[in-house]
Amino acid sequence: MIDESFPTSGLRPMELLTQIDELRVGDLEWRTGRAFGLVYHPDDPGLEQVLQSVAARFMHENALNPFRYRSLLEMEVEVVKMASALFGAQDATLTSGGSESIFLAMHAAREHGRACGIDRPRVVICETAHPAFAKAAHYLGMGIDAVPCGPDGRAVPTLYTDALDSRTVMLVASAPCFPFGVIDPVSDIAGIAQQNDLLCHVDACIGGWLLPWWAELGQPVADWDLRVAGVTSLSADLHKYGYSTKGASILATGTDERARNQLFEYDRWPGGTYVSATTNGSKPGTPIAAAWTAMRYLGSDGYLRLASRVLDAWTRMQEGVASIDGLAITGEPDLPVFELRSDGCDIDAVGQHMDARGWRLDRQAGGLHLILSPGHDQVIESLIEDLAASVAAGPAATATGPGRYGGAVGHDTATHLVT
Ligand SMILES: *Cc1c(COP(=O)(O)O)cnc(C)c1O
Repeated sequence: MIDESFPTSGLRPMELLTQIDELRVGDLEWRTGRAFGLVYHPDDPGLEQVLQSVAARFMHENALNPFRYRSLLEMEVEVVKMASALFGAQDATLTSGGSESIFLAMHAAREHGRACGIDRPRVVICETAHPAFAKAAHYLGMGIDAVPCGPDGRAVPTLYTDALDSRTVMLVASAPCFPFGVIDPVSDIAGIAQQNDLLCHVDACIGGWLLPWWAELGQPVADWDLRVAGVTSLSADLHKYGYSTKGASILATGTDERARNQLFEYDRWPGGTYVSATTNGSKPGTPIAAAWTAMRYLGSDGYLRLASRVLDAWTRMQEGVASIDGLAITGEPDLPVFELRSDGCDIDAVGQHMDARGWRLDRQAGGLHLILSPGHDQVIESLIEDLAASVAAGPAATATGPGRYGGAVGHDTATHLVT
């Protein structure tokens, strides 16, 4: 019946762990500070240890019914309160990630549009906005109008005004955008939304848990959160600079009821009334407990301490790149989420030489993409040294071109080119 793809007899834990460790050879090694995407490394052994213990405690718990787990319910309520205080929100939902936060914000916008008689509501974004908006639009039967960014990589408010039509329901600003790390003019875009009675979502998935402390460190940060007039919702990922484990993000909303995350309720099931606030059914407890733990472990002081390490790494990074002839940082990033571009060098070859030296730099259309975490403060000097050597090494044997972000795994195929 079952072919050889399915094991006949089970293996012992030690054998399995040996196999897994063999499989792990070649996995992205982020702990060494040689990777700059996917994982946000706080380099804090105390946090790591407590997160591991917490994960073990909640590995099997199911937050689908939060009333079965007082612990998870209380932690989730507190996470929502802490996040709301941070972003000036009225309410918030803990979701499984940035894409889900964005999906739920888009869903609220669609429902608002439909209530106004718009069959296929449209959302105006800047081309630098995360693909999660296009993905949500695809699932929800909505339209996306993507306007070009300005020469500084920021959204251009007048282009938003030009893109409005009778079906527009929401405008999107990023704080900052992923490709170039620049914060869009949130106040201006939110102002346009307000004038036209539209919703306005700020995507602070990457910046949300760093910007409050960045400002406290004296860095220039224009207003970007729900305190800005006209902003109606905001996404901020706990599993990025919140330093939680994967599977945690916040969708925060202000006083505008139209933007509020909507409960799904179904009462025609023999199984009873089913109520859910997010897209998943069964829901892992670990992300909830880990988010609570990270926030409680670090506190405002801890986030400030980690932000100052990121700032230190960023300062040295900028100085280092400036010292290399042929290489430059694209634009003027507001956070250390940036593109290394060619200023005369062969950037594709630099990426390959860096690969050979054991670094794992992501590729995007215009160059190499990096995100700095606290742990990178240990490696900036060697990174700069190797970048200089890679620029000096000249062209590589073959060109690789831009990479892909993400991938799909199926029965016959496994596409997982992420470099
Ligand atoms: C990471 C990110 C997202 C998507 O979040 P996921 O957690 O990967 O689903 C959306 N917007 C921005 C700006 C991001 O950096």
